[in-house]
Amino acid sequence: MADSKTKNLDLSIVIPVYNEEAVLPFLIERLDKNIPSWGNCEIILVNDGSSDNTYNILKDSLGGKKHYKVVHFTRNFGHQEAVSAGLAESSGNYVSIMDGDLQDPPELINQMLDKLKNENTEIVYAVRERRKGNILKRFFYKLFYRILRKLSDIKIPLDSGDFCIMSRLVVDKINSLPEHNRFVRGLRSWTGYKSTSIKYNREDRTIGKAKYSISKLFKLALDGLTGFSTIPLRLSIYIGFTIALLSFLAAIVILILRITLAFNVSGWASLILVVFFMGGVQLLLLGVVGEYIARIYTESQNRPVYVIKEKDGF
Ligand code: UDP
Ligand code: MG
Repeated sequence: MADSKTKNLDLSIVIPVYNEEAVLPFLIERLDKNIPSWGNCEIILVNDGSSDNTYNILKDSLGGKKHYKVVHFTRNFGHQEAVSAGLAESSGNYVSIMDGDLQDPPELINQMLDKLKNENTEIVYAVRERRKGNILKRFFYKLFYRILRKLSDIKIPLDSGDFCIMSRLVVDKINSLPEHNRFVRGLRSWTGYKSTSIKYNREDRTIGKAKYSISKLFKLALDGLTGFSTIPLRLSIYIGFTIALLSFLAAIVILILRITLAFNVSGWASLILVVFFMGGVQLLLLGVVGEYIARIYTESQNRPVYVIKEKDGF
């Protein structure tokens, strides 16, 4: 297990940012307002290889500023990777993760901390009661969390994102996990420490655009599914078994028809349909197997999860 790096800091707040030049001034203003209520804290912003003005804004407005620490990646490694870096660099007794686009209200952190202490738990995660914004995205998020819950070996709470607060115990455990596919909210549940939730209304992103492209969201969903369930791998057995059983029954029916009636050999359409269907099923299942092999491959390459270019304020 990684050593606890506690330096008598009460709270660390980890915020990944990627091309957030438009929100940053508002984010910093909002954080500044809340800092007095957080006591002895550090705010770790992880610049995930932004290509806009984020780097300069962070340098200019936070250089040497108390409480703030910044980690710059060499390139865009991804949201979960940025969160992982923030967790690894944190040293507070409690660590909170929040998005940099102000969709997660920083004011909630103290409420979560109170709940954590009062209810004697190690994790408090925020659950989106009402997610605003794009209907299609909302639908897929909902669907994803429900599929994940059905398939996963561990119980990942529904509709919870990364916004949370954790004790040092949990963070050290997450930091010590060697895996490279880092689906942080899954790892957080995996640790198994006592957790509780707090409900909140997730605000719409008012400034800047969502940095999650559809392909990035798809990758996140696949990481979540394959990282925490092996049921998709077993799909081929279930489907194969069902189809074999159905074909056996069909064979009997056809045989009976052949004997009793003069069986009229037409049915090209149904034949071609079955061929296409089976081709589709096989390719799909091959894809599923490929997904897991890809993961074994990245794990065996054993490359670091991210590369840090610069660290400020540490
Ligand atoms: N983000 C990041 N790297 C990426 C994509 C996003 O660090 O490759 C950050 C982004 O700046 C934001 C957070 O992750 O602070 C959540 O991203 P976004 O708002 O796009 O996600 P959504 O709210 O749509 O789920
Ligand atoms: Mg957002």
